Amino acid sequence: MFEVTIIGGGVIGAATACFLARDHGARVSVIERDPSYARASSSLSLSSIRQQFSQPVNIALSRWSIEFLRRVADELAMEDERPAIGLVEPGYLYLATEAGAPVLREVHAVQRGAGVDVALLSPAELSTRFPWLCVDDLALGSLGLGGEGWFDGPALHRAFRRKAKACGVRFVEAEAIGFEAAGERVTATRCSDGSRVGGDAFVIAAGAWSAPLGAALGVPLPISAKKRDVFVLETPASLPGCPLVIDPSGFWFRTEGALILAGGPPRGDDVDDAPLHDIDHGLFDELLWPTLAARVPALEALRVRSAWAGYYEMNAFDHNGLAGRLPGYANAFTACGFSGHGMQQSPAVGHSMARLIAGLDAPLIEALGPQRLVDGRPLREANVI
Ligand SMILES: Cc1cc2nc3c(=O)[nH]c(=O)nc-3n(C[C@H](O)[C@H](O)[C@H](O)COP(=O)(O)OP(=O)(O)OC[C@H]3O[C@@H](n4cnc5c(N)ncnc54)[C@H](O)[C@@H]3O)c2cc1C
Repeated sequence: MFEVTIIGGGVIGAATACFLARDHGARVSVIERDPSYARASSSLSLSSIRQQFSQPVNIALSRWSIEFLRRVADELAMEDERPAIGLVEPGYLYLATEAGAPVLREVHAVQRGAGVDVALLSPAELSTRFPWLCVDDLALGSLGLGGEGWFDGPALHRAFRRKAKACGVRFVEAEAIGFEAAGERVTATRCSDGSRVGGDAFVIAAGAWSAPLGAALGVPLPISAKKRDVFVLETPASLPGCPLVIDPSGFWFRTEGALILAGGPPRGDDVDDAPLHDIDHGLFDELLWPTLAARVPALEALRVRSAWAGYYEMNAFDHNGLAGRLPGYANAFTACGFSGHGMQQSPAVGHSMARLIAGLDAPLIEALGPQRLVDGRPLREANVI
């Protein structure tokens, strides 16, 4: 039996641990410094899933993952529980003005080539389908017709953890601060309480906080924590069939039951590690609300019920996950830096990482290997929200 130590018990680490133990019989320890996961991206996510990416690797990962999410009650079933994650599939709708339409068409061709069920809609077609939408300034919309929507991300995270534990995975409360290595092999992780955890393989899955662990192995990981605000809105308006809408301005909104969730890129400099309690209410009042009300006149009447913020674990190199073996090491791996699309990709990434660590092929994540940092080959994702 081989032993694997994973640093970080967020959805990526938990999924990897779960598949390693469930499918490959590995003995797995997950080192997690905060078992409440209060600041983990996996607890603060919008937990939406789309197929509308510009990179085929992301399309393939999300396609694999949506199939898994549809079967999650069976895949992660335990004796006493069949997990429910409330998956709904109303689609994503990308909107473009004349200026953005060529890019939407270009990305559409990539998506159709990869078999994504997506349609380009004219303003008239948009109006027919979504009568509550103002299309005056629009030239085109791209609507996902299958495999796109949202779910309860923390419930998926919990289901991976519970299933992992049921398969023998040990969750250790500790903070990893470094490693012991001999040549190209890592032999142990050192923790701040003085303990060390050994193993045959090691995985850095510490989300937005992965860079210091990479640095401890001499591997620069260009990952940092970028705060993103989410506003929870109450409105008497009803938006039947509302997908997750991405406005040409970069703002987005979707429904959550009777509520609306909305957000967008930050104002000003996108600094690292901005405090999570520091919600930018001006962003909503001055930019987001006027944009929302112009796009959906019925949203003129709304109230901010609450707001939260979480960190995107942003990969500055190319806004895509790093998943694979660390350059220069035989038994050290990472799965981090998913730049705002890690929740939806966690099933496929965890499954593939487990295969890779077990010595099997993992074609789904081949393009995401961290070696591309060394080779200077960015895999830039155009559709980052
Ligand atoms: C506002 C917001 C909206 C989002 N919307 C979406 C979406 O719609 N769809 C989507 O797919 N994704 C979305 N994401 C992104 C998604 O949530 C993340 O990609 C995903 O949760 C990353 O999971 P992770 O396990 O890599 O990181 P995390 O969940 O952050 O887990 C990392 C864990 O590592 C632990 N850790 C860190 N350092 C150490 C250490 N040294 N020792 C021990 N433990 C350590 C941390 O405590 C943490 O629990 C969103 C994120 C945010 C913030």
